[in-house]
Amino acid sequence: MSYVIGSDCIDVLDRSCVDVCPVDCIYEGDRKSYINPDECIDCGACEVECPVSAIFVDRKARKDPELRVHLDDSRTFFEATLPGRAEPVGNPGGAQAYGVIGVDTPLVADHPS
Ligand code: SF4
Ligand code: SF4
Repeated sequence: MSYVIGSDCIDVLDRSCVDVCPVDCIYEGDRKSYINPDECIDCGACEVECPVSAIFVDRKARKDPELRVHLDDSRTFFEATLPGRAEPVGNPGGAQAYGVIGVDTPLVADHPS
């Protein structure tokens, strides 16, 4: 189980969630942040910090088709080779050390502004 960031983060990206995550598993794309589902320890600290209520627990996302899309998309972000990159991000074990990724999944990149 993990938490997932939905479309309300797109183009907001204020990083409030990043600052409270105890395991540093929230990675920054270009227009949106993404929680690594394999590194998240399900503590819930990020959910209350988001100013646009974009973060949801995955069991809630599974029941909502719109959130479900972002649940699946967060897997794509870490497991697929993103545009312009040579290999998948995978599970680096810490977003700050890894740095800003600066690219989004096609779903987010194509999202209307
Ligand atoms: S639920 Fe906890 S561990 Fe998971 S992303 Fe949020 S703050 Fe980080
Ligand atoms: S706090 Fe919310 S809007 Fe800000 S980066 Fe995190 S998920 Fe996105």
